[in-house]
Amino acid sequence: MAASQAANLVEKAVGHSDNASVTTDVSNYAKGTYGEETGEKIKATVWQGKNSVEVVEMPKPRVVDEGDVIVKVTGSTICGSDLHLYHGVIPQLEKGDVLGHEFCGVVERVGPTVKNVKAGDRVVAAFPIACGECRNCQKKLTSACERTNENSITNAMYGKRTAGIFGYSHFTGGFAGGQAEYVRVPYGDVNLLQLPDDVPDEKGLYLSDVLATAYHCVVDTGVEKGDVVAIWGAGPIGQMAVEFSFSQGATRVILIDGGAGAWRLDYIKSKIPKLETVDFSNLPKGESITSQLKKIVPGGPDVALECAAGEYAKGWAHYFEILLGMETDTSEILNEMITSVRPFARIGITGVYAGYANHFNIGALMQTGIRLIGNGQAPVQKYWEHLLELIRQDEINPLDMVTHRVQLDDMAELYAAFERRQEGMQKVYVTTRFSHPPAAGSPELTKL
Ligand SMILES: [Zn+2]
Ligand SMILES: [Zn+2]
Repeated sequence: MAASQAANLVEKAVGHSDNASVTTDVSNYAKGTYGEETGEKIKATVWQGKNSVEVVEMPKPRVVDEGDVIVKVTGSTICGSDLHLYHGVIPQLEKGDVLGHEFCGVVERVGPTVKNVKAGDRVVAAFPIACGECRNCQKKLTSACERTNENSITNAMYGKRTAGIFGYSHFTGGFAGGQAEYVRVPYGDVNLLQLPDDVPDEKGLYLSDVLATAYHCVVDTGVEKGDVVAIWGAGPIGQMAVEFSFSQGATRVILIDGGAGAWRLDYIKSKIPKLETVDFSNLPKGESITSQLKKIVPGGPDVALECAAGEYAKGWAHYFEILLGMETDTSEILNEMITSVRPFARIGITGVYAGYANHFNIGALMQTGIRLIGNGQAPVQKYWEHLLELIRQDEINPLDMVTHRVQLDDMAELYAAFERRQEGMQKVYVTTRFSHPPAAGSPELTKL
């Protein structure tokens, strides 16, 4: 039995807690009474089982709670963390759940208590669903909202919960996502940001997750002026973390990737020439990443950022332990980071880890004073106004990572291509029948 199904059974036996102030587990508008009474149909990307997604028709969502906003999606995308769902490693995903936690669009309808947005507004959604009022939301730690996820497995495993997340299984509340033509956005006042006319969807979309997650990784781990920073993982988060590290004053940034992802090192270096890179699949004989980094940076980097993820084992031991359910994540990258950095360095973990990892080098961590920081899911709403300003001032250009434009109809092919880390595919812009023509500087439509 897959871990996700087992967790579902436990959840059913233990039952939900009753901390949520919104209607949770609205993950498929065809289930229950969450569709519009008109019977209007929309297209949505749903999980059909391990390594299988499909675009299906289902009812158009309606306003369920007073603070809900119904958004007509004009832009969506796929994320590295969607692959964890695709693989079935995130517990409690159910067949038919709508995926996608990054989207932008136009407000179509608002619930009776919504004040900050109105029909016709162009908006982007934050991936964490926050209430805006609980203790954590008041501190802008929206990804730890206490009122949008009543999953008891999360609480049992972590001793606390994350906020609800769009399109990310019942483990995070069970909310239908934005790889669809319409989405129900709970607490629309808190979870939507208006996009000004001078910011096209192709730039604004990435405020949903990538920009905020990369920025949070850099500032939460504490990159300071003069630091040498090493970043594991050259996906879109790693790419933006390179940019933000330099803008926070890092003197050198070294980006590490390899295997099927190695092409991304050259891709990012072409955008940021002062970047240094290490290809772990092409190390000199007898060298490890740790020994190589020590050569490039005598004594080791000051800061290390994990922008990869824990489910990708490199060695056989971890491969089999994950396969046999003895661990959910590998400690290989963390151990590499701990031994690579200088004593008393900071390590931030932003790549997704789900549960337990074996063979963690706690000795090296303790003996050499390493500060290991779990960055958490990014509190997007804390940063997105600032990041929107950076886009408007051309300080950052999200289009630097966008390589493809694809239609929602091709979502199944897109998941498969993203899974293969298809050469040249960094970040994608997914269109719906409501999308505007491509903005200046964005790629032409590719048929998959
Ligand atoms: Zn994402
Ligand atoms: Zn809250």
